[in-house]
Amino acid sequence: MPVYDYECTDCGAFETVRHIAERDDPAECPRCGEIAGRVTVGAPSFGKAQVVLPVYLLRARAPAVTA
Ligand SMILES: [Zn+2]
Repeated sequence: MPVYDYECTDCGAFETVRHIAERDDPAECPRCGEIAGRVTVGAPSFGKAQVVLPVYLLRARAPAVTA
C-alpha cells in the first residue's frame, strides 16, 4: 500500500500507509490522536527518493518505434 502524508495541527506532518480508497480521508495523528487532514503536495510518495520526470523525458528514454 502507498504512503500518504498528513499534517496534525499540533504535531506537524506524519506519514501513514493506507488503502488508496482511504487516501483522502482524515487520518488519526500517531502522537496525539487528533484527526489530521491529508497534505496533497504532488503525487503520493512511495519513498523519499521519488523523482517525477516530465513526459518529454520519459518519451525520450523510450526506444523509437518504427513500424
Ligand atoms: Zn498530533
